Amino acid sequence: MPELPEVETVVRGLQETVTGREITSVKVFRDTPIAPLNPKTFEKRLAGRSIQSVTRRAKYLVFQFDPGLYLLAHLRMTGKFIVSPLISKPEKHHRVWFFLDKDIVMVFDDMRCFGTLELIESLTDCNKLRLLGVEPLSSSLTVPYLKKCIAHSSSNIKNLLLNQTKIAGIGNIYASEILFDAQISPLRQGCQLKAKELRKVIDSTQKILTTAIQKNGTSISDFRRIDEQTGEFQNFLNVYGKAEQPCPRCSVPIQRIVQQQRSSFYCASCQQ
Ligand SMILES: [Zn+2]
Repeated sequence: MPELPEVETVVRGLQETVTGREITSVKVFRDTPIAPLNPKTFEKRLAGRSIQSVTRRAKYLVFQFDPGLYLLAHLRMTGKFIVSPLISKPEKHHRVWFFLDKDIVMVFDDMRCFGTLELIESLTDCNKLRLLGVEPLSSSLTVPYLKKCIAHSSSNIKNLLLNQTKIAGIGNIYASEILFDAQISPLRQGCQLKAKELRKVIDSTQKILTTAIQKNGTSISDFRRIDEQTGEFQNFLNVYGKAEQPCPRCSVPIQRIVQQQRSSFYCASCQQ
């Protein structure tokens, strides 16, 4: 599933190619992503609108139109935006075509159909956005903030990193990589971490996410950039998906454990 660096990669690609463009028309091939809106309403509300900006909040892409209209997109498992010259026939997983001026088309492609495209009128009134925690690359992620998050919680540090209402945008791949970098075990209870360790978690979070964005995200399964190229961060993973392989730091085999039905990868020797 795309996490913050992958969504940021898509957003940066779209900023370069579609910002300032007008949507001349829209064609919905399957209404699952836009439900409960009907395709005709969706197509009509977007036709003739200019894309003012494309930004990211957590794992959401936010397209702003004029005036007071936003398209909130979530890629979920396999959603993709592809920008290409005009095409005559939709491919199998094309769900929506947005025709733009200068003869380009922005395609929303989604094999598994869990992705969503939602029209909203206000960002501040949107519950989905309001419930999100701080952006991990912002100055709001601080030791006192983390302390407050974990103060009355028995949750382990891995699940704290995944809790979107506390820190938004981190998923399973980066949580494992962040804790490896910080040399902290995913099994540690968050409330038992000292301030110095929380500082390490923050520094590693920002370092790993920033590097992953520079490498255009991780393409382990479906993730692609808007030009359909893969990201490169999969070549820089230290522990995720590497069970039984030697730890890059101390050579002890990496372990895979399951926490809340999700895999965690870590080195029991150098992550304490
Ligand atoms: Zn190790």
